[in-house]
Amino acid sequence: MNGRYSRQTLFPEIGQDGQKKLSSSNVLIVGCGALGAAHAETLARAGVGNIRIVDRDFVEFSNLQRQSLFSETDAIERHPKAIAAKNRLLEVNSEIEIEAIVADVNYSNIEDLVDDRDLILDGTDNFQTRFLLNDACVKHSKTWIYGAAVSSYGVTMTIIPQISPCLRCIFEELPDAGSSPTCDTSGVIQPIISVISAMQTTEALKILVGKTESLHQSLMQIDVWQNDWRRIKLGAPNADCKTCGHKNFEFLEAENAEFSAVLCGRDAVQISPQASTNLDLEALARKLQTLGDVKQNEYLVRLKYDQFELTVFRDARMIIRGTDDVSTARSLYAKLIGN
Ligand SMILES: [Zn+2]
Repeated sequence: MNGRYSRQTLFPEIGQDGQKKLSSSNVLIVGCGALGAAHAETLARAGVGNIRIVDRDFVEFSNLQRQSLFSETDAIERHPKAIAAKNRLLEVNSEIEIEAIVADVNYSNIEDLVDDRDLILDGTDNFQTRFLLNDACVKHSKTWIYGAAVSSYGVTMTIIPQISPCLRCIFEELPDAGSSPTCDTSGVIQPIISVISAMQTTEALKILVGKTESLHQSLMQIDVWQNDWRRIKLGAPNADCKTCGHKNFEFLEAENAEFSAVLCGRDAVQISPQASTNLDLEALARKLQTLGDVKQNEYLVRLKYDQFELTVFRDARMIIRGTDDVSTARSLYAKLIGN
């Protein structure tokens, strides 16, 4: 020991024993955007022994306002977020192991990603991936910590399968495509990221050192701009819950894959939501106007965005021209349509 953790071990709830537990712990952080990067930094500095980070995106300049691990060089060179995070974190703490995986998290890989982990932290930006994560964690009895932030608002909840309600006990079905705000269309300020990540990582430390009696056992909802802090105490899991009650892990089944993505022609991908919906195209066009040149008629909205041309139809399908990479297309869908 070189004194690195001395202030943390002085905190009696952690102590030397807790520090040993942290160093022998392994976690998964799903998504390395604003929340995921903040989780990774806190847990790496705290000495969590093995941190696996999975993310499908590249660093962009619009990330730098809130994504604390990344630099201008990362954005200029379009480094994958997982790799950029690993490189930065190893400068901060070379005594731990960091595994960076550049991948789209989906039904085919989620179970392998969670199976050998002590704990999973949500750093994703969409409900599809969270429902998938919830299925995998309940199936494999893994504790995971849900967290989301957009605008000045955030929410978090810690899920211990069979002991506390799971995500689907609270949110029974996916929201309709296009019905939820996203950071790319509604914006986000950095302080809400710090607050939600602080709550998620504090819960993580409690779990990893075995102090589960101190967990908040609530759905926490915070708006740092409106000065609104709400704590909704959680009861028992819902016996009728599809996921933790009936063990129906529908998001893990290939035929229910969250999106169908097909290559359509050269250099274009079509993304379709699992359930079709009736998008308010006028509202969508207004939201997207801040991002680029938008054209709209009664059937579709078309947006020029970076090197892509995106066409969104009323049934929430999107055709992305300018890529033949499915994970790039899914990422754009999650950011701009939201789900
Ligand atoms: Zn449940």
